[in-house]
Amino acid sequence: PIALVWFRNDLRLDDNPALRAAVEGGYQPLMVYIHAPAEEGEWPPGAASDAWRHRSLKALDDRLRARGSVLRCFHGPTQATLESIAVAVDAEAVFWNRRYEPAVEARDTIIKGALRRAGLRAESFNGSLLFEPWEVETAQGDPYRVFTPFWKRARGQWRTPRLWQAPDHFEAPEDDDAVPHGVPLEGLHLAPRRGWDHGCWERFTPGEEGAEDALSRFLQASLADYPRARDLPAVEGTSRLSPHLHFGEISVVRVAQAVIDAGMGEAGDVCLAQLGWREFAHHLLHHYPHTVDADLDPRFADFPWARPQHGVLAAWQRGRTGVPIVDAGMRELWQTGWMHNRVRMLAASYLTKHLRVHWRHGARWFWDTLVDADLANNTMGWQWVAGTGADAAPYFRVFNPVLQARRFDPDAAYISRWIPELDVLPPAHRFAPWEAPDPLLKQLRGYPHQPVVGMAEGRQAALAAYAQVRRKA
Ligand code: FAD
Repeated sequence: PIALVWFRNDLRLDDNPALRAAVEGGYQPLMVYIHAPAEEGEWPPGAASDAWRHRSLKALDDRLRARGSVLRCFHGPTQATLESIAVAVDAEAVFWNRRYEPAVEARDTIIKGALRRAGLRAESFNGSLLFEPWEVETAQGDPYRVFTPFWKRARGQWRTPRLWQAPDHFEAPEDDDAVPHGVPLEGLHLAPRRGWDHGCWERFTPGEEGAEDALSRFLQASLADYPRARDLPAVEGTSRLSPHLHFGEISVVRVAQAVIDAGMGEAGDVCLAQLGWREFAHHLLHHYPHTVDADLDPRFADFPWARPQHGVLAAWQRGRTGVPIVDAGMRELWQTGWMHNRVRMLAASYLTKHLRVHWRHGARWFWDTLVDADLANNTMGWQWVAGTGADAAPYFRVFNPVLQARRFDPDAAYISRWIPELDVLPPAHRFAPWEAPDPLLKQLRGYPHQPVVGMAEGRQAALAAYAQVRRKA
């Protein structure tokens, strides 16, 4: 009997529960991928995600071919496509791993019902989280809104997993002619036509092998010093696993177990807690799906956000605000599809506090440009920084990007890497060029001499705006 294994954000063979269900159920797995961005509601994948996905699908297909199989790609609509493939090959089952984006979850529920009514065994699995978002709840059975108790409860529920390895060989269906062949991967038009993405591939290798290499590198080189180095954007102190985890190129269960097995005490705990934030983000998205574009804290409904002027938003997007640490981050994002977490916080804070632009505008830009763009993590990250979310930094706590840069990039190494224009200034002046003495500042060309909004001025305006929210509370 044939089972369709419907790949989505689980682009791996190792420890893949849907594939495992097919293999252990005695089915011949037929691997399919269906491209249907229009079914993802208001959040179809952005340009950087598409570029990554193209390479990741290619890597998966290569892996499958080395094992006697192949990945068949199709255009949506998803339900009709799954149904017609199932009929054509006389499949008995369809297996997939769950996704948690509200629009996708709703679609998948409909599809599951339809397939079952058509007499197929349709089952979904948890292939991307340590815990299902509904498995962790308070003693009263409610969702958590604060991270620390959430993660304490979740960790208490952790059991050493039984990790699954895919077989070395898959049998091809006997009557290959009956199998719809779909379209070649190139036919999905995911790869960018103009080569703006080369900077991403200097840093990342999409696919299962790239993910496994990133994990081993991290365990060997960075885990021991993670609690300290993870905040320093100039060094490779974190795992850079985020796009691999988003696309499911590596099992998060395997990652967590590897961190535990490394036996690094506190460093391991700090690292696991980051995976915990990822779990928390999915927990929040599941329980509060409206937060993808609305504030979780309703008091912000009529917060006096500034109308984003095109010039200001564009300056932020392209790393030209005049605040070096913010601009360095935004350029890292533009050129590599990724930004260091500490700098994400500073760039997001400058946008939502100093510029008082609603976080939604920032979230949209990140969505389009991050290779790890993830609806759960991105929504939580933005709402956390903006002060509108769960367990968020309160709005009145405004990061000073200059002090933060001095603390976490003390030699200005990160700033200098992304803003070569600043090379004419001594490193000590690269954090806040506008404070440099005039003769020095005169030498600075091609970079703003003043920030679009100054440190004190932006902070005061933000606090004044926040006072209105507080009065309502
Ligand atoms: P590591 O430090 O090595 O952490 C390991 C893994 O834990 C990460 O790969 C990631 O999956 C998870 N993780 C770490 N920190 C967080 C966090 N704060 N929230 C949720 N998960 C976390 N992360 C995304 O994956 N996609 C996004 O779209 C995204 N948008 C963000 C937007 C803003 C405004 C902010 C402040 C953060 C955002 N993050 C997002 C979270 C975080 O910045 C990245 O996950 C992290 O920088 C990825 O680098 P890493 O893999 O080296 O992380």
